[in-house]
Amino acid sequence: MSSAAVEPSTSLRYINGIGPARAEQLSDAGLETVENLLYYFPRRHLDRTTVTLIKNLEKGTRVTVVGKIEACGERRTRKGKLFQAVIADRSGLLNLIWFNGVNYVRSSLKTGDQVAVHGKVEFYKGFQIVHPEYDKLDTSDDPLSTGAIVPIYPLTAEFKKVGLDNRRFRSMIREVHRQITTLPDFFSPKLCRKYKLVDIHSALTWIHFAENNEQLQAAILRLKFEEHFFLQLLMALRRETIKRSKAQALVKIGSGFKTIYEGLPFKLTSGQEKVLKEIRKDMSRSQVMNRLLQGDVGSGKTIIAILASAIAVDNKAQVVVMAPTEILAHQHFGVFRKHADGARLTCALLVGNTKVSERKKLLSALETGKIDIIVGTHALIQKDVVFNNLGLAVVDEQHRFGVVQRGDLLAKGTNPHFLAMTATPIPRTLAITFHGDMDLSILAEIPGDRPPVVTRAVEEDRLPSVYSFMNKEISAGRQCMVVYPLVEESEKSDLAAAVEAYDKLAGKIFPKAVVGLIHGRMKKEEKDRVMNAFGKNEIQVLVSTTVIEVGIDIPNATVMLIEHADRFGLTQLHQLRGRVGRGANKSYCILVQRKWTENSVKRLKIMEQTSDGFVISDEDLKLRGPGEFFGIRQSGFLSYKIADLVTDGPIIRDARTAAFDMIKEDAHLRKPEHGNIRDRFIRDYRHLFDFVKMN
Ligand code: ADP
Ligand code: MG
Repeated sequence: MSSAAVEPSTSLRYINGIGPARAEQLSDAGLETVENLLYYFPRRHLDRTTVTLIKNLEKGTRVTVVGKIEACGERRTRKGKLFQAVIADRSGLLNLIWFNGVNYVRSSLKTGDQVAVHGKVEFYKGFQIVHPEYDKLDTSDDPLSTGAIVPIYPLTAEFKKVGLDNRRFRSMIREVHRQITTLPDFFSPKLCRKYKLVDIHSALTWIHFAENNEQLQAAILRLKFEEHFFLQLLMALRRETIKRSKAQALVKIGSGFKTIYEGLPFKLTSGQEKVLKEIRKDMSRSQVMNRLLQGDVGSGKTIIAILASAIAVDNKAQVVVMAPTEILAHQHFGVFRKHADGARLTCALLVGNTKVSERKKLLSALETGKIDIIVGTHALIQKDVVFNNLGLAVVDEQHRFGVVQRGDLLAKGTNPHFLAMTATPIPRTLAITFHGDMDLSILAEIPGDRPPVVTRAVEEDRLPSVYSFMNKEISAGRQCMVVYPLVEESEKSDLAAAVEAYDKLAGKIFPKAVVGLIHGRMKKEEKDRVMNAFGKNEIQVLVSTTVIEVGIDIPNATVMLIEHADRFGLTQLHQLRGRVGRGANKSYCILVQRKWTENSVKRLKIMEQTSDGFVISDEDLKLRGPGEFFGIRQSGFLSYKIADLVTDGPIIRDARTAAFDMIKEDAHLRKPEHGNIRDRFIRDYRHLFDFVKMN
């Protein structure tokens, strides 16, 4: 077998030094081919900059130490058994202790082994680390005195069980490197030069066997670029596809638009005018609009959606407007109708609770084209909702919808124009990664001159003075909101907490106010009743779970008290805070912190310091990571091997330019020099194309 050419697609079983038995074990973890193994990147590299000498250890820090096991063994204690090892580097001795998994550690570590250990340093009759992570190295591995870079591979428990340790991995990868005969690069030398990338062979050598840090960094850059490049290629191709789908050109500006525009009770901000122009231009073309409108809470997105809808109706097309919650759908419907009625556009509302008889009437009016604009929740995507001529689909708070739901909505027309809106400012790197196929409009200013909401994080013991402040506001005729978090897995008990708090607040704490309660389990009519009462100031204090998160607009509310603020993400807190400060009066947001973690302190501090949604979302991304940020919905994207959305901003931008340039020049990747890219795209990314396909 050794005489045959070894290529990226060669099965590992044919590699001398690996063989069928090992190949079998590897294949259980999805490592089938030479390429798979070469792309099995170290999860960490040990070198002078990342390894700490024992003599320099400090209590309480997390460190990586490399040393030799001088002695080890099991001991009985009063509580059971423990395993102890002493390791030495050239500067000192360090104790390692395991209370759990003693049998396993005993069987895997022995005196004389060279190991890298990672954990938190404690002091107990000397420095020690309890339950360190550890990796066995080669006896000669000494990144500290040799200046070498030692790769540490991600090893599953299954691997370790069958003796596939770090050493073994390195020797297998070395074999593959030695035997591989061809490793074609899918990037041209020209592209590599332009973006300062090393060739694939160097990258895949140095990521495993770098001789110095420059080599390692060059390898990391190239491989990160590669991952981002293919996702950007996905976006570029989707964009091409969308551009090719023919839409109705909604050119005419008619009486609907003019009446609404001229009747506006305010002047549009220059930002709104600009966005409106962008949308008008898009809609007037026979190419589908695919636009994301980002604007902070209160930036005035709704009126933009209304004016865009009027344009569609002026051109005899219908509009669908979808919101994530019923409360928000109701509110939108209210605002839409206010403007639409005067202009004689027919507006309707469809939500889950719409009565059967009414629904039937409504659907038939929709199908015959008697309804111009239909506002609603995901009830709109049901099969029997049929349009006469859908020309524009608007989705509010679009990040709350799955891609599939959006797709279902769009499927109700032949290529309707699409306007997505979000008040969650998405960090730039995420926006171009996940919405890279959309055009972006941004509303950066908040209309009117509203002062920022004064924000303070407080501890529980400050609550009495907070309550008395709220009572003063109430006496002055203002309204307050108190929000309790609702954690899904313990929904009941949190609900109980909100109800209990409500009882307390309604009695002793706000004796002169009418206190209302709203939560997710209430019937819709009940919720509406409470919301309406709050809107009319018949209720002065509204206690709620996070159902008020999006949408509601009560200009008279000046205090937002958020309980257990440490449990919320920054973006959520920002949304909640946006519920106040909508009128002329000075408003306040009080964050009650009941749990103390480094992270929660940082988060609440940021809330105190800024009201800039983009700054907040960037911080949120850094603190919680992209998975949390988007929820599990988008997770199909996030299984990066080496790329990192949080830190790779500049690389992502370069990769985007490269991918979009390539598609501009060769829309279907048909040129022979793009053959390798095309093949790889089809093999590894094609399924994502369908996953994110919208129309
Ligand atoms: P969001 O972007 O959060 O959806 P809305 O569209 O609900 O914001 O607008 C927030 C408030 O600002 C609404 O009461 C709206 O009437 C008002 N508004 C919108 N545009 C302007 C403007 N140009 N000048 C003054 N007020 C405006
Ligand atoms: Mg809104």
